[in-house]
Amino acid sequence: MPYTIIDLPVPSGKYGKKSPYKMTPQYVTVHNTANDASARNEANYMRNNSSSTSYHVAVDDKEVVRCLPFDRNAFHAGDGGNGTGNRKSIGIEICYSRSGGARFDAAEQNAAAYIASLLKSYGWGIDRVRRHKDWSGKDCPHRTMAYGWQRFLNMVTAAMGGAADTGEAPSGRLPGKLDEDGKWGKDTTRKTQAVMGTPADGIVSGQLISCKQYLPNCLVSSWSFGKTGNGSPMVRAIQGLAGAAPDGKAGKQTVTAMQGLLQGKGFPCGQIDGYMGAKTVRAWQRYINSRL
Ligand SMILES: [Zn+2]
Repeated sequence: MPYTIIDLPVPSGKYGKKSPYKMTPQYVTVHNTANDASARNEANYMRNNSSSTSYHVAVDDKEVVRCLPFDRNAFHAGDGGNGTGNRKSIGIEICYSRSGGARFDAAEQNAAAYIASLLKSYGWGIDRVRRHKDWSGKDCPHRTMAYGWQRFLNMVTAAMGGAADTGEAPSGRLPGKLDEDGKWGKDTTRKTQAVMGTPADGIVSGQLISCKQYLPNCLVSSWSFGKTGNGSPMVRAIQGLAGAAPDGKAGKQTVTAMQGLLQGKGFPCGQIDGYMGAKTVRAWQRYINSRL
């Protein structure tokens, strides 16, 4: 487990304001803090202030900080005193979402792993995981949604035991199968995006020219390379599924992880060598076709 769980509890003297009701949880609600503070700092701010706003857990790149027991409610969902979000859901804040970057990526990974452990302990499925937005319409968890909500759900499902690709069809998938021609152009990108649940525009944005050598069969009509780049939500989703560092930029490590994933799922791609050659692209296309 990459994170440590610690408790920084809201003092019971503040329950009247921050956690007045007993609760039998039915859902997990995901938030982004829209801030750049650590989980400890977020928790200390929340438990020491006099606002009614509260939540159960804050997660960063190192720690899961528990603030309220799960048999008490918290006010985090914006759906009022009797709302299901505020009265029946465990509120989880993912830290460092304002600026994003490696700390946020690691916090999201930790949150996915921790939420997976919660779902297992309650005997729940992925359908119990909701967004703040689902309760009140607020743009939260903003960065997690921008990177792809289905991508995050896939991370949670993968952390529960790797069943992400046998789950329900993500919305937005496209009809028709891919040509298994070993070349990664716009159609392969669009259908991969649809399967991964990220925006399906046919473009792999924000890739590094320095990594292009590992992507010989990725066509520049679909892959956007530059000297610097912020990465692509689709690549980030693939990295989450394959167990590579989720920076959104495909390179030797990501291709190696994809090849391991393909071999493990019964789509042979030749040598695991970190190069996206024709055999690897063809295996990927067959894998995506199996999910369309
Ligand atoms: Zn929120």
